[in-house]
Amino acid sequence: MPSTNRLLSITNLKKYFPIAKSSIFQKGQLYVRANEEITIDIHSGETFGLVGESGCGKSTLGRTILQLYDQTAGSTIYYGRTLADLAPSYVAKTLKNAPKLIAKYKKLQAKAQALADECEKLGDSATFFQHQSKNLAAAEAETAFQDVVKILGGFAALDDCRPGAALLLKKFSTEILIAKLKDEIWEIELEIKACKALVKHVNEDPSSVKNAEKKVAKAESSITKYTALKEKKEAKLAELRMVLEEDEQAVEALKAQYANNEQFVQYEAYLDDGIDLSRLKYSEMRLLRKDLQIIFQDPYSSLNPRMTVGQIIEEGLVTHKFFKHGSPEMKEYILETMRQCGLQDYMLHRYPHQFSGGQRQRICIARALAVQPNFIVCDECVSALDVSIQSQIINLLQELKREKSLTYLFISHDLSVVRYISDRIGVMYLGNLVELGTAETIFADPRHPYTVALLSSIPTTDMANLSKERILLEGNIPSPIRPPEGCKFHTRCYMACEKCRIVPPPYVEVEKDHFVACHFLDRKVDENGNYLFEIKKEEKKPETSEEKTEE
Ligand code: SF4
Repeated sequence: MPSTNRLLSITNLKKYFPIAKSSIFQKGQLYVRANEEITIDIHSGETFGLVGESGCGKSTLGRTILQLYDQTAGSTIYYGRTLADLAPSYVAKTLKNAPKLIAKYKKLQAKAQALADECEKLGDSATFFQHQSKNLAAAEAETAFQDVVKILGGFAALDDCRPGAALLLKKFSTEILIAKLKDEIWEIELEIKACKALVKHVNEDPSSVKNAEKKVAKAESSITKYTALKEKKEAKLAELRMVLEEDEQAVEALKAQYANNEQFVQYEAYLDDGIDLSRLKYSEMRLLRKDLQIIFQDPYSSLNPRMTVGQIIEEGLVTHKFFKHGSPEMKEYILETMRQCGLQDYMLHRYPHQFSGGQRQRICIARALAVQPNFIVCDECVSALDVSIQSQIINLLQELKREKSLTYLFISHDLSVVRYISDRIGVMYLGNLVELGTAETIFADPRHPYTVALLSSIPTTDMANLSKERILLEGNIPSPIRPPEGCKFHTRCYMACEKCRIVPPPYVEVEKDHFVACHFLDRKVDENGNYLFEIKKEEKKPETSEEKTEE
């Protein structure tokens, strides 16, 4: 089963935004293709930097991973919890409707193949919309296939998948009961914790609470009641765990019968117990929101101006049941979180407009951290700040990452910042990932011409690099509605050739963990940072008589 130290696995992710038709005569649907075929694994504890020009789809990718935007195709698997922990409804639905879903993906595969054949037959005369339909149909078929085999595994390869699906469904039903029971126990523990905190608070300062004796007696009786209820639920949990063991044995026994079936074994390898975020219902995704947080670029508009800092941080804690509303323990927890983020205790009752930009960003960080996330998308989170404040925030993020084993997706167009904070870096151009590697590799040995150009544009005060020629990319980023054919970068690439205009470059691993999408994979710079290629320069057009007159 593929489950290393990956926290997120994003495969062939597409995000298209449909555009309203401009006239009733417009035949096909047009889309803004914000993200195309994005495949990345984000590992636990790493900072993954994402760079590229404005409009290349970095922020859209961050938000799509968190499902703030619905993805058009592909999968986003989260390994911070297992299917058994969350028990999402899509698993039961897939198992109940397995034969229908298998028939559906086979139909979609046939449709995608027919469209691909048609485009091939038409060759150059195939229209833009025909190519678009072919690509979307292929993505839809692949997504439908993955949705089934990741849950059904080898049973999807059998002529009759029903016995296997029935056993898996029985096992999953037990897992749902276990997950529900665990939630109930968690809520009971929360009640016990709140009652104990109240008793402690009253004992420490009896004059601060009205009817102190009565309240303590009530809280102590509640503790006894909830403790008994918890023990009962734990006994039931132990019973269910034994049932689950039996269910697992039954599944394994059936699988053993197909150990020599090649296709069964091949499909079994697709089994995945990570959670597919794109298939979760709204209410299920809400449960995962505390694991997956975001810090936005603009710290002012992302804070509610009518709430104090305390209320802003409290909101998430109550929603995700860390504390009960008004619990005395919660105030201490909020203050502790604020201190960790460099905010003083007296700021608790202040409103966002009373803070500077850097302090507001600290509030955003405190809000995200309070719910103890595993993964945080930092979406241009230092771009709106002064350079001195930027370094404070970056150091704070680094410190918190070390202390709390966090994982970041750090989105920025500032390469120096990304270099400092990232373990690995992905470079995006017009919705596609064009290069990916460790931070050292990307800076010491960039292979994609776009990465080389981006690196050459970093401002420097280093005398040795001042004489280095800057690579100026000509023209604007092409439209993401009708991106150029072949390599999307060919309209601005200083190394483009005829092949680049026709054939899209494959995304290949040039060396371990270093991926590039270019037809020319050789080194572009030497150890001293000198270019190993000639920069093609556009010939200057002769001045026209009109231009001369204007002068
Ligand atoms: S494939 Fe061609 S156009 Fe694209 S980046 Fe490489 S050299 Fe440039």
